[in-house]
Amino acid sequence: MDQLIEIKKNARKEAVPIMKDSGIDFLCDYIKTHNVKRILEIGTAVGYSAIRFAQLDEEISVSTIENDIERYHQAVKNIAGCQLMDRITLYLGDALTVDLKDEFDLIFIDAAKAQYTKFFEHFKGNLAEGGAIIADNLSFHGMVEDLSLTHNYSTKKLIKKIKKFIDFLKLNEEFDTEFLEIGDGISVSKKNTRPKKDIFQILQDLSISYEIQEHQPIFCEEDAAKVQINLQGTEVKNLFVKDKHNKMALVSLPLHKKADLKQIAQILNSKRLSFCNPAELEDYLHITPGSVTPFCIMYDRLARIEFILDEELCNDKILIHPMRNTATVSIMFSDLLKFVENYKHSYKIVRLSSKL
Ligand code: SAM
Repeated sequence: MDQLIEIKKNARKEAVPIMKDSGIDFLCDYIKTHNVKRILEIGTAVGYSAIRFAQLDEEISVSTIENDIERYHQAVKNIAGCQLMDRITLYLGDALTVDLKDEFDLIFIDAAKAQYTKFFEHFKGNLAEGGAIIADNLSFHGMVEDLSLTHNYSTKKLIKKIKKFIDFLKLNEEFDTEFLEIGDGISVSKKNTRPKKDIFQILQDLSISYEIQEHQPIFCEEDAAKVQINLQGTEVKNLFVKDKHNKMALVSLPLHKKADLKQIAQILNSKRLSFCNPAELEDYLHITPGSVTPFCIMYDRLARIEFILDEELCNDKILIHPMRNTATVSIMFSDLLKFVENYKHSYKIVRLSSKL
């Protein structure tokens, strides 16, 4: 234990960036509670965290990669001093050039922040079933939340890269990520093993009752006029619009109303609006033209879209597509809000005028 205190003291003295106490305590706790035995660490520095992990349990083995030769040699000394050379394997070199065949229960990313997405992609194949990829420093001393804390150009550039990594995790369909305000900001990403849920499963999970009618595909208002919907509720049309600064909005209003784009632009504090193209529909809402529905808002995990609902829909059941235009479901408007709130998405309910 004394050796560890000495290693930590020396690291701090030499300005070697080792993990904050709260961050490393969280990781040690995670390792114990999740029965982690095989760890890969990217960013050894002088071996402090690797030693802490290995000391938790004799069955734990750590592989750790460092590209700074002096730190690597210091890590070898420290690890040997703690008699852990048999359970800690050190690699010298750029982690992106190290190809490992082994599987790990935990992959801990704690090296060059600008490379986080690359490290994640490079090593995700080494993750064992049920394992997690954890990354540190996602808050970067609070600067990720508040960029004005630095005036340094290269720090600002780095912060932007960290933000990009955070967005990469948020949008990643393969992994589910939890972001924790521990230490300097930690992410825990686990492989998404659940089969992709369909909308009906989600409604069921949220205890939202619905009625459904299958029908011919409806692509436009003319198609809609030809299909007799025998469900109770107000038919809804959904517009996906943007302004010239790429501010996006999903607008849901009764089918009978003629959307007044000028009014919607005012609500958005924008000047002129246009309709988004099929590529933008796919990118932002994961939907194809003709199938747009308020349910699409669940895909806006970066909250890039304003969601506007017409007040007239409030007191009734509504008729919307279940992510495909070959069916219509009838649900309570209040249940739609429950659905949207489940995804922590904001919305605005406004009285939309109808163009004459
Ligand atoms: N995990 C260590 C601890 O808490 O004791 C601290 C690691 S420190 C924050 C990050 C280390 O990653 C530095 O020593 C740096 O030299 C190393 N590093 C940066 N980029 C790297 C890369 N591409 N490959 C391997 N190591 C890298």
